[in-house]
Amino acid sequence: MGRDYQKWASGLIRGKVLFDAPMRHFTSIRLGGPAECLLFPGDVNELKKVVRFARRKKIPFFILGKGTNLIVRDKGVHGWVINLTRGMKKITMDGKVVEAEAGLPLQRVVQFSIQKELTGLEPFFGIPGTVGGGLAMNAGAWGAELKDVLLSMTLMKEGGEIIERPRSKLRFSYRGLSLSPSWIILKGRFRLKKGKKEEILERVKSYSEMRKRRQPLGSLSAGSVFKNPKEGPAGKWIEEVGLKGFRIGQAMVSDHHANFIINLGKAKAEEVIYLLEFIEKKVYQERGISLEREVKVVGEP
Ligand SMILES: Cc1cc2nc3c(=O)[nH]c(=O)nc-3n(C[C@H](O)[C@H](O)[C@H](O)COP(=O)(O)OP(=O)(O)OC[C@H]3O[C@@H](n4cnc5c(N)ncnc54)[C@H](O)[C@@H]3O)c2cc1C
Repeated sequence: MGRDYQKWASGLIRGKVLFDAPMRHFTSIRLGGPAECLLFPGDVNELKKVVRFARRKKIPFFILGKGTNLIVRDKGVHGWVINLTRGMKKITMDGKVVEAEAGLPLQRVVQFSIQKELTGLEPFFGIPGTVGGGLAMNAGAWGAELKDVLLSMTLMKEGGEIIERPRSKLRFSYRGLSLSPSWIILKGRFRLKKGKKEEILERVKSYSEMRKRRQPLGSLSAGSVFKNPKEGPAGKWIEEVGLKGFRIGQAMVSDHHANFIINLGKAKAEEVIYLLEFIEKKVYQERGISLEREVKVVGEP
């Protein structure tokens, strides 16, 4: 079946198609086995073609953003991985509304709004990943969530049909958005406010400094691995049970921020997943707290 998935993908679009693409090249934590087929549709029409074809042939697929909240298992991904970062990255502005396509880095939207003297996106300064990934994860920081500034979202349904949904019709949660599994986020429209450039820059600077202080930015990671439970920050509980700096092979609980797992260089996904399970067990046994994962684990078990 794998060969068929590859055969069917070749020549389907003008955009790039990679076969047996090592996912360590496409994730911020730099690990993971190969994707049988990695497709980069050049525009929305090519994406539609890919999605329709996948539906007809029952090819499993998932959307990869910048892979900054992702652990891909060592055996890789069976089926198609679709990436919008090469073909869908336009940004436009209409008054105080900024519209950005899903493949655009979220940071480009933040920069754009600063240039245009629009306020509302400062808390998101420094969050890596794409607009699509940010919306799918309802990314957030310093008490703000991307949904707070979202006006509407454009989506592609499994048959290639395109719809626009206002925020009120979308089911966001803390670090999540409940969508039909094969729906794809195409773009987001963000409602911002007019601001003063110096004040916007001042806020960006202070968020950026906090981020530098609190996160292990120089290390290979997939961001926060657990959501913060209602009992308090996940990192605090991990630290309290003595796991800061704890290692399994080349995967280590960051000694800077315990809710980050670091790839020391040659970590396997298996080691990271084992470490996640170990943390979950220990925090539950010693504190009675169930940690829920924020990172998405994908690929063949
Ligand atoms: C150093 C570091 C710091 C971070 N700091 C923060 C932070 O402060 N706050 C925070 O919230 N996160 C943070 N993150 C996590 C991560 O950057 C965010 O969750 C980001 O929004 C993920 O975007 P991505 O494009 O990398 O998505 P990916 O990791 O590629 O994918 C994440 C999920 O989104 C889905 N997805 C992606 N694009 C689409 C689409 N177009 N349509 C449908 N589904 C899609 C994927 O299928 C997957 O399920 C951090 C990560 C790192 C490495």
